[in-house]
Amino acid sequence: MARTTRIETNTPEETYALGMEIGKKSKSGQVYSLIGDLGVGKTVFTQGVAAGLGVEGPVNSPTFTILQVYEEGRLPFYHFDVYRISDVEEMDEIGYEDCFYGEGVSLIEWANLVPEILPEHHTEVRIEKDLQKGFDYRRISITEY
Ligand code: ADP
Ligand code: MG
Repeated sequence: MARTTRIETNTPEETYALGMEIGKKSKSGQVYSLIGDLGVGKTVFTQGVAAGLGVEGPVNSPTFTILQVYEEGRLPFYHFDVYRISDVEEMDEIGYEDCFYGEGVSLIEWANLVPEILPEHHTEVRIEKDLQKGFDYRRISITEY
């Protein structure tokens, strides 16, 4: 049975802090799938996760590469952004399996574009706006599969 936890944030800093908490608790081999529209805060959340893992350098969405690897934290951190992927085979070419099933922590922005390769056990983080609650309001639903 999947369990969902819902959190509300009202600033980018709060979303970053939530990511950081999760990064601190992340375990070897954990996979996070991030789902949400453009500009909703997936990268802000990811930057928090990276910081929580002890990655010190800047973490941005890779524009021309699907995968960015950070080795300097507590565990290797594999940051995927599959927004521009045209075929899921590109993930094979990158060697995603070594990341998902390796020692590090993987996080995939736009994971809904590659549902077929997500491991059975992963953590989904869905971020949504609700403009009626304000421009900076975000509802973040975390589900363990
Ligand atoms: P994505 O990666 O989902 O496309 P980004 O993380 O790059 O989105 O950008 C999110 C934008 O929304 C940033 O400009 C950030 O400052 C802004 N923002 C406003 N409120 C929030 C919030 N509560 N949580 C996260 N980001 C927020
Ligand atoms: Mg992004």
